[in-house]
Amino acid sequence: MSRVKRLLPALVVGLVLAYTAIASAASAPEHPTEPFFPRSGNRGYDVGHYDVSLGYQPRSGELTARDVIEAHATSGLKRFSLDLDGLKVTSVSVDGEAAGYSRGRGKVKIVPAAPIAKDEAFTVELRYQGVPRKVTDPDGSTEGWYRTSDGAVGVGEPVGTAAWLACDNAPRDKASFDIQITVPAGVKAVSNGRLVSRQKVDRRVRWSWSEPAPMATYLALVDIGDGKLVTGHVGKLPTWTLVDPRLVKASRAAIDSLPEIIRFESHIYGPYPFAAAGSVVDVADLEYALETQTRPIYAFVPNRTTVVHETAHQWFGDSVGLERWPNIWLNEGFATWTQWYFAEQHGGRTAQQVFAKLYRRPASETGFWDPPSGHPGQAKNLFAVSTYVRGAMTLQALRDKIGTRDLLLTMRTWAAEHRHANGDIEEFIALAGRISGRPLRGFFHRWLFERGRP
Ligand SMILES: [Zn+2]
Repeated sequence: MSRVKRLLPALVVGLVLAYTAIASAASAPEHPTEPFFPRSGNRGYDVGHYDVSLGYQPRSGELTARDVIEAHATSGLKRFSLDLDGLKVTSVSVDGEAAGYSRGRGKVKIVPAAPIAKDEAFTVELRYQGVPRKVTDPDGSTEGWYRTSDGAVGVGEPVGTAAWLACDNAPRDKASFDIQITVPAGVKAVSNGRLVSRQKVDRRVRWSWSEPAPMATYLALVDIGDGKLVTGHVGKLPTWTLVDPRLVKASRAAIDSLPEIIRFESHIYGPYPFAAAGSVVDVADLEYALETQTRPIYAFVPNRTTVVHETAHQWFGDSVGLERWPNIWLNEGFATWTQWYFAEQHGGRTAQQVFAKLYRRPASETGFWDPPSGHPGQAKNLFAVSTYVRGAMTLQALRDKIGTRDLLLTMRTWAAEHRHANGDIEEFIALAGRISGRPLRGFFHRWLFERGRP
């Protein structure tokens, strides 16, 4: 994510919404699966695939959904739950048999006709409908479902995907996705991966997208609206790009730099991790850009450095995913450092110059230095300034210590060893030590976990 417009306001808004965090902590489940968002994510199963069919009426804002989930049980299940915010569930079946269900806050609780044995594969089919809504985070930002003047946007970092998709909404549970979106003829509908087909269904059109690589639910994208869907290639990699007609001219230079950016990042980090790429630029009330898998969305006119940032997330964040949200440094620190290194390699200031200037910020500026990037502490600090800036400084300080070659080798090895999977900060620290052959624990402790200027 890149909050180009609101890095500073986020600090202020955090205070106002602190009560939300307290309220949700008080009624958290007994065994939360995720420290920052204890209501999100579920136990007892692992999802392998989502086959999602959405129908959307831009005029009424009504969404109808059929969601087929293939999962396997990691324990015996008499009952289980899925995340879904709002919307009216009209039917649930498990392995083709009608299942009992009820709603709790943000959940669909399902009782299959027969218990599911441990290690058994099972399929859940849900139908639901309604007008999806936005979700407000502990830091005051929003995600979920946004109506726009010509359609809608569905995005999910960190927990908003459940506003439009019944799912296991935790970053550790990745799955492949087929997403079909049926909209009135003339309107475009874009999602992740490659466009498989575009079919007329009466006076509507069904757009079928497929992302076969494992994807965290928060990286799923729906964008519905006007514009020309432009197809292209970066080498053999197919691209699909949709830009709101109002932003085409202003966005062109940045969007056209995607091939150059993919080539640069593939060169330093190893092969591009997915089978499709592209961009979405839309006029929506998000105030940020998001690294939705294979196809980042920019809710404003992007510049090249924002495209560099969101594209770097395809390696760090999307392919190498988070095990838990407190590990956010592995996403934002890496994407931000890539911006600095890209600029350095293209005639701009060196990353060391950027670092040196930032390091002069006085220790008394705690809003700049804290919380330490490896320990955000609470959900409202997830996208704090320090997650990005101190996070990127950490990698630059590491570069100073072990050299450019070993830093890039560490990042490339990290991308290869955790490709299409998840990673944890401790594992990265161990890898950097292994590759450089140096004791780095003290260094990482100061930069990632201790408060104040390192
Ligand atoms: Zn980011």
